[in-house]
Amino acid sequence: MMSDDLSRHASSSLAQSPGAAARLQPATQRHARASDRHDELIEQALELLRRAAAEHAGSVVLSSSLGVEDMVLTDLIRRHQLDIPVATLDTGALHAETLELLERAQRHYGIDIEVWRPQEQAVLQFVASNGADAMYRSVALRHACCAVRKLEPLGRMLEARSAWVTGLRREQSAQRGSLHARQVGSDGRVKFSPLIDWALGDVWQYVADFDVPYNPLHDRFFPSIGCAPCTRAVTLGEDQRAGRWWWERDGEKECGLHVQRETPVPQGASNDPSRQPGAPA
Ligand code: SF4
Repeated sequence: MMSDDLSRHASSSLAQSPGAAARLQPATQRHARASDRHDELIEQALELLRRAAAEHAGSVVLSSSLGVEDMVLTDLIRRHQLDIPVATLDTGALHAETLELLERAQRHYGIDIEVWRPQEQAVLQFVASNGADAMYRSVALRHACCAVRKLEPLGRMLEARSAWVTGLRREQSAQRGSLHARQVGSDGRVKFSPLIDWALGDVWQYVADFDVPYNPLHDRFFPSIGCAPCTRAVTLGEDQRAGRWWWERDGEKECGLHVQRETPVPQGASNDPSRQPGAPA
């Protein structure tokens, strides 16, 4: 498929069709289904968040994509008044719906969400050299675009922090199946993923029960939402991340935010990165 066709495919989704969207069942109705462990999963997530806040006081952040999992974590943090700030990346290529949710979430929770943006000059230079649709031409160019728009600002977001919280779930993809609730990255930073064992039904049950604000694109069959040019709706039976970089046939459907070498932290072990195996001396 040529890059122009790809751009059209991305923008001709149900997201662009308000009439069709109005006839859709909300994602809460489609997906909300509490598993037998639902209450236990909420308690476990809370316990991990409390631990992150206590062990990394003033040095931990929720890195939110504003996707539904991160909205659940934002709700848990605010509802239980945990001292964990929320931050997000504005890549300059987000859907209007995502930017609107950013404003809505701040109003709903009465918080300022940190917004980290790429270096403007670096983006202009990348687009001038490679074109606005470079990501469709090769995996290398796609990774280069993610490096400029996502990895560089993420690095600044985490620079002075010893830990971060993410909404990763094992069920989301084969690549994420081996993740752990607490891992130490090769940079020594601890990553907490309190929803690691949650099923999609548990996530949406929480959203329905606590009236959590969410991106309307989820109602339009976008289970995973990234930059507009690189995200499409999924169809029945497709993987939850099939709509991300859908034109790439092989390889990991990741942008590099979660692919560095990491070491699991066993339950009860110290969170001091300097004491973890594989951590820098
Ligand atoms: S997801 Fe797409 S637009 Fe966003 S940074 Fe990566 S390649 Fe660029």
